[in-house]
Amino acid sequence: VPEILEVEQARTLLDIAALDRVVVAVHAPDAWFLKRGLTPHGVELALLGRRFTTARRRGKLLLLDTDGAGPVLGLHLGMSGRVLVDGAAAGDPLVYASNRDVVAWRRFGVDFAGGGSLHLRDPRRLGSVELDPDEDRLGIDAFELSARQLDGIVSTSRAPVKAVLLNQRRIAGLGNLLADEALWRGGVDPARCAQSLSADARRALHRAIRTTLRVLGRRGGSHTGSLMPERRPGGVCPRDGARLLRRTVGGRTTYSCPVHQR
Ligand SMILES: [Zn+2]
Repeated sequence: VPEILEVEQARTLLDIAALDRVVVAVHAPDAWFLKRGLTPHGVELALLGRRFTTARRRGKLLLLDTDGAGPVLGLHLGMSGRVLVDGAAAGDPLVYASNRDVVAWRRFGVDFAGGGSLHLRDPRRLGSVELDPDEDRLGIDAFELSARQLDGIVSTSRAPVKAVLLNQRRIAGLGNLLADEALWRGGVDPARCAQSLSADARRALHRAIRTTLRVLGRRGGSHTGSLMPERRPGGVCPRDGARLLRRTVGGRTTYSCPVHQR
């Protein structure tokens, strides 16, 4: 499942390969994939003849600005979406359920002048495309999150701290694997009431989020966490060897250590 690290890999690919090329055709074969009233004809009218000028990201939302006061194209990768430019995808192909290029999985795309294309391939069809998305419905991007901002978010919520980390309206970009890894690194129990964390625990959690993004980003994605190989029945804490707890927290399957996560 794409989390902030995979979406950042896609953004980098778009930045390198998809900017400043004139759109000469728009393919939107799956009207269900278009959101907020957008139609195949509407998106075609909006993009034909334009170039993408900037590839941005907020949390897990990809944003392509267009030239000439054109709209912002918003791309959501959903559970299985990948961005392909000229047939090449970003990121580690081993983490995706299927890398076959089935034509029906191409939910949206554009052709560029002189050949080449941008496509969104999504076997599970849970991604989406929209124009001028409301970027402010998303919270602070996880890469930008300061210790003070995390303090403000965590200390005002009675929800389990993991649910707070997953709430995209508060912090944008963390998914299930990154949240579990950060809580494990920070020694914080995912089910603990967010408000009950001490200032020291909040600081440890902030450091752990930063370390998780940096280390797993370098290793290649959200699936490369130290906790990842132990997310299985009988898995043990890589730090102290305790048998991991498996629970549902914040609606998601959660692994944590009963010994060092408090
Ligand atoms: Zn442990």
